[in-house]
Amino acid sequence: MHFLRRLFGGNDNRDRDGAIHLYVECGRCHAVVHVRVDPRNDLTPEYGDSDDLVGYRLIKEIMDSRCFRLMRAEIEYDARRREIKRTIEGGAFITRDEYEQRRSSSSPSRD
Ligand SMILES: [Zn+2]
Repeated sequence: MHFLRRLFGGNDNRDRDGAIHLYVECGRCHAVVHVRVDPRNDLTPEYGDSDDLVGYRLIKEIMDSRCFRLMRAEIEYDARRREIKRTIEGGAFITRDEYEQRRSSSSPSRD
């Protein structure tokens, strides 16, 4: 576990087993979804012109359990697996705190 901690740094998006946790909100029905990603399976290495590793790309399709619309998250990492940028189609990234709050409140989203 020490190895993974060092490998992935202090980013709290990742827990002790090295997994990446994504929290997203559906852009249509505003349901919140939590997805656990295993970087060993889901990160695709990307190579530059001289075959050197330039980074990783994660593409994850996420479906909420309310309207079942598919969202598509794409996250880019550098060669050390530090996140560079993230985009999502059909929804929005939220924080873990927002996710916990929204999930525990039974009232629908205000907007
Ligand atoms: Zn939805």
